[in-house]
Amino acid sequence: MGEPQFPPRPTLLAQELIRPFIHEGDIVIDATCGNGHDTLFLAECVGASGKVLAFDVQEIAIASSKAMLEESGLADRVEFFHESHARIIGRVEAASVAVIMFNLGYLPGANKDETTHADETLTALAAASVSIKAGGILSVVCYPGHDAGVGESEGVERWFKAQTGAGWRVAKYGMLGTQRLAPFVLLGLRK
Ligand code: SAM
Repeated sequence: MGEPQFPPRPTLLAQELIRPFIHEGDIVIDATCGNGHDTLFLAECVGASGKVLAFDVQEIAIASSKAMLEESGLADRVEFFHESHARIIGRVEAASVAVIMFNLGYLPGANKDETTHADETLTALAAASVSIKAGGILSVVCYPGHDAGVGESEGVERWFKAQTGAGWRVAKYGMLGTQRLAPFVLLGLRK
């Protein structure tokens, strides 16, 4: 076994933090499927009777995620939507989803201009918060270390804090003392 990574990658940390909240048969959402790593993780967690809804606005991301899921033999657990995560609310019943994951920013290796945007992200988070059931989890990996990500990260963190007044418990996980603002993970539990 190799050396453990420190700090753990925020995307992997998010997966480990939400894993205990996903059960066989659950409906879950990957709001930014990108290359499909979180989609695959979610498909493994929900089992054969569960369902993953995966969103992305880029055709290349949907194709890449589909290829990964087909290779793993779990594609039949996933429905892909080539549309914005702001449309989540039209795709699921209110209070029906166990977990929704967002990994903000741009697709590694693709056009960096095709990034998530604060306004759209906040619209999608409002939709996500209505879609999650009691005891369900919302997770967002934020990237304040690049120009487009700093305002978005601040806005998302403010939005999470405001949810405490609406019956949510929220938490933030990240690294301290870095030269550039480090990525962090926000988690919300709907009570
Ligand atoms: N979770 C992915 C993975 O495991 O490979 C990486 C996601 S990447 C950091 C962010 C993704 O968000 C990009 O693929 C981008 O196209 C997508 N995106 C940007 N705006 C979006 C929107 N409004 N709705 C859905 N996806 C969006």
